[in-house]
Amino acid sequence: MNCDVLRCPVCGGALAQADRSLRCGAGHCFDLAKEGYVNLLTGSRPGDATGDSKEAARFRRDFLNKGYYAPLRDALTARFAGRSGRLLDLCCGEGYYTAALGSLPGLEVWGFDLAREMVRLAAKRNTALTLFVANLARIPVENGAFDWATLLFAPFQEKELLRVLKPGGRLTLVIPGRRHLYGLKQAVYDKPYENDEALPPTERLRLLGTEKLSARITLQSREDIRAVFRMTPYYYRTSPADRAKLERFGTLDTEIEFLFAEYEAPADKEAQTVIF
Ligand SMILES: [Zn+2]
Repeated sequence: MNCDVLRCPVCGGALAQADRSLRCGAGHCFDLAKEGYVNLLTGSRPGDATGDSKEAARFRRDFLNKGYYAPLRDALTARFAGRSGRLLDLCCGEGYYTAALGSLPGLEVWGFDLAREMVRLAAKRNTALTLFVANLARIPVENGAFDWATLLFAPFQEKELLRVLKPGGRLTLVIPGRRHLYGLKQAVYDKPYENDEALPPTERLRLLGTEKLSARITLQSREDIRAVFRMTPYYYRTSPADRAKLERFGTLDTEIEFLFAEYEAPADKEAQTVIF
């Protein structure tokens, strides 16, 4: 496993591979999984208890494999085509987008997620990826290791982003657009609302620009309609009566919409003064 910028999550020391594990100089040891990723979560709680369950990870993989979100995947890879260097996909999930980025020539793609099953599935998607299980609040990589970072639908932690990016490194943030899944909302709610599309406030990351991606998809079965709804944050806030409204539809047209925002880390090294 390529572990040159990974750090021991216990002591912060450099890690080196010995047989099927990674070890630091202080003797902390992390076994490589047979799929080739490493679990760098510390503490007694296993990743699958703190992150998504196995079932949720497989559900997400199976849904994404149907291709409804291919427009987002393709726009993301088009954005990175021709770029080179090391990229970190934060909260990479089951790797649908990470694997596509990892297929681009010139990019060395790393990714991590809190849920071990997500990382395991990502490793199976593309063996060229370097993957680990870790927490977004404390990413076990050395300071300034990455030229690029991607953050799709995940919490925004500016301090860690600044720490892991090189001076002048770039972050691509993706959030749901105003009209994302509006057709689905119209089918469920009497008064559907649009997403607010607000970008997170930043202190030192400089916003270079935004770009909107809009597409229209047709969900092809009741199962797919239920699946996309289940993956939304508002699923759990919707009453059973409103959820049941979706059962009337055999297919469903909806817009999907995403906002890309690109940020640049400061050119000075001050951002990297925090030692992991
Ligand atoms: Zn250590």
